Amino acid sequence: MAFDYLIVGAGFAGAVLAERLATQLGKRVLIVDKRTHIGGNAFDTYDESGILIHPYGPHIFHTNSLEVIDYLSQFTQWRPYQHRVLGSVEGQLVPIPFNMDSLKTLFPSEYAARLERKLVERYGYGVKQPILEMMNESDADLKYLAEYIYKNVFLGYTLKQWERKPDELDASVTSRVPVNISKDDRYFGDKYQMMPLHGYTKMFERMLFHPNIKVMLNTDYREIAEIVPFDKMIYSGPVDAFFDYRYGKLPYRSLHFEHRTLDTAQYQPTGTVNYPNEYAYTRISEFKYITGQTHDKTSIVTEYPRSDGDPYYPIPMPEFNALYKRYEADALLEDKVLFVGRLATYKYYNMDQIVAQALSVFNKQILPNEPRAD
Ligand SMILES: Cc1cc2nc3c(=O)[nH]c(=O)nc-3n(C[C@H](O)[C@H](O)[C@H](O)COP(=O)(O)OP(=O)(O)OC[C@H]3O[C@@H](n4cnc5c(N)ncnc54)[C@H](O)[C@@H]3O)c2cc1C
Repeated sequence: MAFDYLIVGAGFAGAVLAERLATQLGKRVLIVDKRTHIGGNAFDTYDESGILIHPYGPHIFHTNSLEVIDYLSQFTQWRPYQHRVLGSVEGQLVPIPFNMDSLKTLFPSEYAARLERKLVERYGYGVKQPILEMMNESDADLKYLAEYIYKNVFLGYTLKQWERKPDELDASVTSRVPVNISKDDRYFGDKYQMMPLHGYTKMFERMLFHPNIKVMLNTDYREIAEIVPFDKMIYSGPVDAFFDYRYGKLPYRSLHFEHRTLDTAQYQPTGTVNYPNEYAYTRISEFKYITGQTHDKTSIVTEYPRSDGDPYYPIPMPEFNALYKRYEADALLEDKVLFVGRLATYKYYNMDQIVAQALSVFNKQILPNEPRAD
């Protein structure tokens, strides 16, 4: 049987496009993933005790796009969930991003009150103020606070996560670290924050359940690209691998995930605790907060950043963006291949951004050029 499309990668990018091509255009699609499961990095599964876990680290859904929610809601119901993160700073656990309660926990009460008053007067209540800008303040207290957050919350985490100093990374990453001038302790500021009620994998199963979609797992697309006839390709793997690394490898940061199931109902006070300063790991997450599951035991994951391993985070540095641009130029010349997703476009995107990107590729690049198959 000949396929209209071979889709490489069954993560959000590949699954959204498979679903659109099959249901909106009647195309026959083969979706291939070299992993043994669908869902890409968002895959979730039950551990040996029956606790729903995210093998590739905690995935929390948040977006400002109603279009993305409407689209995904065809395949899942939702559970409201607002993620909260605490950071270990000078032996205390304080809200991250830093907020007015973090000040009160870490500083003597009079000094915390003075800082709070100055922050409100200078920037306004409810503002999320980037600390890098605040470091240039002439007011000695505000400058001190910005430097304190930089040193105790941001610097250590960045060194562990990226193995580079903040000033070596793109300003787009470093300029965003805020102090919340309010008591808002939510990690994300998006309008919509929720989790798929029965998990991501169930949602992916519903997206891909269609007579025109065939799923092939445990298979590198190169093993079958020569023997299975197809017309066009959608590629969501690493762009440099597609071109056999002809300009050299695009570097990524990876993670080692240490998963543990514990014989206790609760391990820590919130979904994620960050460790910017101590230990080799960056953070520990406890899944039951995120999934809402009740269970006598609990399951946690500890993340150790590393250079080798699965490609997770493109390194946001100008020289690597320049290298990507060379691959991008070649990708644009491939008239039978569309490059979609975070690995194929070498940029860190959240899940909702990948869904939006895939929907946009379908609506703007595929739909106008494709007749319906039936
Ligand atoms: C640790 C971590 C935590 C994250 N947390 C969040 C979060 O809380 N919220 C959020 O919104 N986003 C989060 N993300 C981002 C999220 O994972 C991505 O936005 C999303 O998974 C990207 O989807 P994708 O389809 O582009 O890529 P992927 O999910 O990576 O899918 C690509 C697929 O292609 C397959 N593939 C690659 N090469 C080949 C090949 N040669 N042959 C066959 N298959 C191949 C891979 O096996 C993979 O399954 C997180 C990412 C990481 C790494």
